[in-house]
Amino acid sequence: MQQTKQREVILDVLREAGRPLTREEILKVGRKKIDRLGSATVDRAIRQMTSEFYVVGVEFPGQPRRYELPTESEHPHFICRKCDRVFDLPVKMELPKINAPKGFLVSGGEIIYSGTCPDCA
Ligand SMILES: [Zn+2]
Repeated sequence: MQQTKQREVILDVLREAGRPLTREEILKVGRKKIDRLGSATVDRAIRQMTSEFYVVGVEFPGQPRRYELPTESEHPHFICRKCDRVFDLPVKMELPKINAPKGFLVSGGEIIYSGTCPDCA
């Protein structure tokens, strides 16, 4: 199977989901689009796309690594405590400024809210 086709499928899946997905979620939805989507192939494609910044990896404590499309603005994430899905919250956000101790160079941060998503409420 062509590599470009798989990459397109992964991008489509992420675009349609509109929220960060785990590799399992990408595989599950991707296989509805292409029957023979191998997990090793998807892993390879995700790794490549992450290094090329087509896809961004997001990690939250106690959660599997997820992937999303790069966005122009910083946005908070939301973890549903009932279904364990992670959502992008489309709201403006600014990370609070902190005075980092000497020797620490802050280059980014994450704001994560948790609670119940609309499907589980
Ligand atoms: Zn939920």
